Amino acid sequence: MNYFRKIYEWLITAIKGMLITFDHLGQQKVTNQYPEIYHPIKSGDMPLIARNRLFVDMDGCDGCDSCAKACPVACITVESVRVTPGDENVPDMNNGKPRKTWVTKHEIDFAKCCFCSLCTFVCPTDAITMTQEFEYSEFDRDKLIYNFTNLSPEQVIEKQKMFEEHQIAKKKEQEEKKKAEAEAKKLAEIEAAKKAEESKPSEGETTPKADSNAQISETTAMKEETKVLSPEEEAKQKEREARRAENERKRAERLAAAKSNENT
Ligand code: SF4
Ligand code: SF4
Repeated sequence: MNYFRKIYEWLITAIKGMLITFDHLGQQKVTNQYPEIYHPIKSGDMPLIARNRLFVDMDGCDGCDSCAKACPVACITVESVRVTPGDENVPDMNNGKPRKTWVTKHEIDFAKCCFCSLCTFVCPTDAITMTQEFEYSEFDRDKLIYNFTNLSPEQVIEKQKMFEEHQIAKKKEQEEKKKAEAEAKKLAEIEAAKKAEESKPSEGETTPKADSNAQISETTAMKEETKVLSPEEEAKQKEREARRAENERKRAERLAAAKSNENT
């Protein structure tokens, strides 16, 4: 009995399926051969969370590189240069804060993008967003690399050059300052050495030990002078020389005091 009931159910199911098939045979086709037959989809038809092509609002992007670091397929490249002090016509960011960097390149390779949207989550200024645009296929892969910077190639070169020149001038200024400081230190040391020399006892009164010590220190100083020194080593050496001169001066004072005691 169960066997005949199953045959009956199978027949009914097959008849129902065939009725649906015959019903659609006479109806108009709905499948379009895209892109030959184009049936536009309005942006309003897209769900709000749709993952489509990205857009970067360069008025809000400060080139922090967070999106590039977050991208799992490394399809974002961000390059920036700091705004040179004194540069005129620097527009503020769209959040009202002063712009500190020029974003000279903000490239996204949509041939690699997997539309994970991680870049939009990490952007601190919400400059990178998903759009409703999904039809942007190309025959040439290179055309899928979008550069969103709003600077022209000439402006990029100009901004980079300005900053480089500023850096060079700053470095030069620092070097000159260092040099002037070193010269002032050297002069002070010479002055101290002179004073120590003046307060030294006459030649006959120096002890042989003192002489040998003086010779040793002179030889060491000469050896140190002949070495090519780094700025740190040079500063240390000058410090040592100043200490040595101070010691010499004290020794001379002691000797002078001892002599005056003997005379009295
Ligand atoms: S959506 Fe994902 S893959 Fe595409 S650029 Fe953003 S982080 Fe990279
Ligand atoms: S788009 Fe956002 S995350 Fe990416 S560099 Fe610009 S500010 Fe930073």
